[in-house]
Amino acid sequence: MRILFFLVSFLLVGVAQAQFRLPNLDVNRIIDTAKNVGKATLEIGEKDEISIGNDMAARLLGAAPLVDDPALQQYVNRVGRWLAAQTERPDLPWQFGVLDTADVNAFAVPGGTIFVTRGLLAQMKSEAELAGALAHEIGHVLKKHHLKAIQKNAQAALAGEALNLALKDQRSAARDKLLSAGSELYARGLDKSDELEADRLGVVIAARGGYDAYGLPAVLQTLQSMNAEDSSLALMFKTHPAPAERLEALDKMQPTLERYGSQPQLAERFIAELKK
Ligand SMILES: [Zn+2]
Repeated sequence: MRILFFLVSFLLVGVAQAQFRLPNLDVNRIIDTAKNVGKATLEIGEKDEISIGNDMAARLLGAAPLVDDPALQQYVNRVGRWLAAQTERPDLPWQFGVLDTADVNAFAVPGGTIFVTRGLLAQMKSEAELAGALAHEIGHVLKKHHLKAIQKNAQAALAGEALNLALKDQRSAARDKLLSAGSELYARGLDKSDELEADRLGVVIAARGGYDAYGLPAVLQTLQSMNAEDSSLALMFKTHPAPAERLEALDKMQPTLERYGSQPQLAERFIAELKK
């Protein structure tokens, strides 16, 4: 319950802070943007990245709440934060949550909030597999895949100053359009190249964290062996390349996989933690 409270209060604090924060925008850029109404390309800074992520996380939590199991939430946070600490963005407000749904999936929002579903956890056999899946999502955050896609979608829907307004004013209609562009993304998926890049990063980050590098490939193999008609896989399969294609792409990483393939899987610890 403590983690749940922490996560919820974090989201609320994030919203409140963003509301009262003075817009952190470069004046010259605003003038440039105003001159180029219609083709604005605004760089979204880290504070706005985190604030947009908090709003997106709140929307995802509205669709499926967190599992009410503090020990499980703490365990997944320990693994996720350990992995995130090994990356080039260790100082983001990383947090990890298990969503209470039988759907098999995982999500990352901009700024470092990552969710894995109860349904996906149930398919895993070791901590190395959990690490591989979390590290894939961490890869999306590091490369700002969702942020860039949300920005691109929003720019199509919001001309010129409207994107500035969406960042400055959380209660604006422009903000709502920005978040709708984000929600659409979680139903439609990222570009295939982003997914394959997150897979490569996932293998590297998990290996850097000391885990068997085959954790993520093992999860993909499990997904491949499941019945593709299973409705719990529908959204995952709609928003990601087929597991076979992802495994084939990871084949190019054979030297890395082999080099770090004998690091611990921690299957017993994983099973014990899930039973707690
Ligand atoms: Zn992904």
